Amino acid sequence: MIPRLRPPFRIGELLAAAFRRGRPDDEARFEARFAERFGFPQGLFFPYGRSALNTLLVALGWRDQEVLMPAYTCVVVAHAIALSGNQVRFVDSQPEHFLVSAEALQDRLSPQTRMVIPTPLFGYPVDRAGYREALRRRAPQALVVYDLAHGFGVEDEQGLQANEADAAIFGLGLGKQISTLYGGMLLLRDAHLAREVRRVRDTQFRPAGRWRGARLAAYGLAASWALREPFLTPVDWLERHTRLLHSVTEYYYGKGGPSLPDDLRTRPTRLQARLGLTQLAQYDAIVARRRELSARYERRLADRGFGLFAARFAPTFSHFPLCVAERDCVASALRLRGIQVGKLVDYACSDLPGYGASAGAHRWATWYGGHVLNLPNWPAMREAQVDRVVDTLSVIRDSRPEWFVASLAYARAA
Ligand SMILES: *Cc1c(COP(=O)(O)O)cnc(C)c1O
Repeated sequence: MIPRLRPPFRIGELLAAAFRRGRPDDEARFEARFAERFGFPQGLFFPYGRSALNTLLVALGWRDQEVLMPAYTCVVVAHAIALSGNQVRFVDSQPEHFLVSAEALQDRLSPQTRMVIPTPLFGYPVDRAGYREALRRRAPQALVVYDLAHGFGVEDEQGLQANEADAAIFGLGLGKQISTLYGGMLLLRDAHLAREVRRVRDTQFRPAGRWRGARLAAYGLAASWALREPFLTPVDWLERHTRLLHSVTEYYYGKGGPSLPDDLRTRPTRLQARLGLTQLAQYDAIVARRRELSARYERRLADRGFGLFAARFAPTFSHFPLCVAERDCVASALRLRGIQVGKLVDYACSDLPGYGASAGAHRWATWYGGHVLNLPNWPAMREAQVDRVVDTLSVIRDSRPEWFVASLAYARAA
């Protein structure tokens, strides 16, 4: 079976990070190099991306302040805001695209907006110029914090999309472009704010326990094997038919209501910083390969008349999104033919428990939450495997055309 994802590190690389003697300044070097690569002067390493955002809000000392984020994105972002004592406000997707438009953003901005979280989901660039103009008109005071967990080095005509932003957060979990097993990064432009966040982190966070590095390495190895045969097929079965893996799948997101993991304030280990350094060195090659594979998907799927999402500049493709009418049917049919696909964001945040006041209010986000599939595009995939995915989709569509959408506009009308 072709897995929906593979960790971005090799097993040898993980073992080297675990067993090679590091340097005492590995974490500081990782933070500095990461910040430099993605265009910020300041970087802080955290145990999760959500921990980075939550700590930023705590360090700002805000209570009950309004933070705008997309309704169609990972719900842990909403949890990080809500549990910092601030208010989450969602912005809907567009009828033709899962991204938030500048118009939708502008409609939701007000003098009360203190923070905005532009999110280039799946590595698709947002309308930066439009967002900038909307902010200038309606909320020039707002702090702009890009969520680059999917959009690491995402660019447009003016270079890195976050190169004017106040801050950016990144996720470094197993499914991200590069990974430190678990982990997150906060990049900041302002040195004073960075000093304050660092102070909060260094006083409120616990050091990692003695065996945490070893436990994480074991987790990384288990996950690497679980996403390869002969384990992939039985693990896929367990995931669908039992609750055994819920602790690593569902719990991770907290879809049951606002919650954050117990180790939200545990410092990452040295092993993770070392792994981060070797991963960062491969970032450019990883993204180049994802773009290559995804461009192949785009060409072949377009040739066969599948509707694709438009992009204003080449996406970095943390995932390859495809809209279908009957997602579970298509996913099962693909699985029967040896292809596992993802449904990374299968909800609108505003429809989840804890955010119920706005349930149903973001209809396009809700629609994407029910209809987007993520095709495998991990960097070690071969072209022949991409072709197999496309051919298989075509075969399934030949027998069940009603499971697919001819184009996004068509889907809306239906
Ligand atoms: C993964 C992810 C995050 C946060 O990452 P964690 O490290 O899991 O807290 C934030 N935003 C998006 C869009 C993500 O996919």
